[in-house]
Amino acid sequence: MRVVRFPAIALLSLSSQLLIGCVGMHFLQYRSSPMASPTICLTFDDGPNGEATERVLEVLRQHHLQATFFLLGKNVEREPLLARRIAEEGHIVGNHSYGHETFLAFYSVQRIKRNLERTNRLITESTGVTPRYFRPPNGLMTARLQRVCDELGLTPVGVHLFVHDSFTTNASVIAQRVLRRIRGGSYILVLHDGFGTSAAPARTVVADALERLIPTLQQRGYRWVGLDELIREPALAAISSTTNR
Ligand SMILES: [Zn+2]
Repeated sequence: MRVVRFPAIALLSLSSQLLIGCVGMHFLQYRSSPMASPTICLTFDDGPNGEATERVLEVLRQHHLQATFFLLGKNVEREPLLARRIAEEGHIVGNHSYGHETFLAFYSVQRIKRNLERTNRLITESTGVTPRYFRPPNGLMTARLQRVCDELGLTPVGVHLFVHDSFTTNASVIAQRVLRRIRGGSYILVLHDGFGTSAAPARTVVADALERLIPTLQQRGYRWVGLDELIREPALAAISSTTNR
C-alpha cells in the first residue's frame, strides 16, 4: 500500500517545521479514491478498554463484521482476557505501541524495538496471535520506526478517515462527522474504543455511533472489508495513491 506523505510543514509552526524536516517525519494518512469500489475497513485504536470494547464487539457481532483492533501493550496488561476475546471473536489484533508514546517515532531504534517487541509479546501471550500490523501513535512515522517495523514483520497501517471521536461523548456527532466525510470510494476508518492508556468508560459512545453508522452506510451501498483483504486486494490497496480526501 502506497503511503501519502502529507507535508507536516503545512500543519505546524515554523520551528516545528525545521525540526520535522531534519528528522524526516511524516503522517501515516492515506487519500481515498472515489473511483474505487465503495468499501469501509473498520479499525479501533487504544483498547482494550472495558465496557467500551465489549460494546463495540457486541455491535460487530450483531452485524457479522470483522474489524482490526490496534491494542496498547499497557492496556493488554490490564485486560488480557478482553484482548483474548477480541481475537477469539475473529477480529484482527494489531500493535499500537506499549503506552501510546507520543514521540515513539523519534526514539532510538533499540528503544523503539523494545517497545514494539514488548507489546507484541503481551498481545501474543494473551491472544495466541502474533501481530502483523502496526499503527503508530498519533500517526507519526519516521524512517527508523519503519525500519523497526520491517525487522519485526509489522506492516504500518494508517487511516483515511479520522474524525477526532476521542474528544466527544456525543454518538450522533461522531456518526455525522463520518457520514459527512464519506463520499464514495474506499476508506480505512479509525474510531477509538479507548483513550490512550486510561480506563475510559465514556468511550462506549463509539459503540453507539457504530450502531448508527452501520445501517446508514449499508444503505449507501458500502461493503465492509477486513484489513487482510484490503492489503491483499490490489484494486483496494491502490486507494491510497490517488485523489484527495
Ligand atoms: Zn491511539
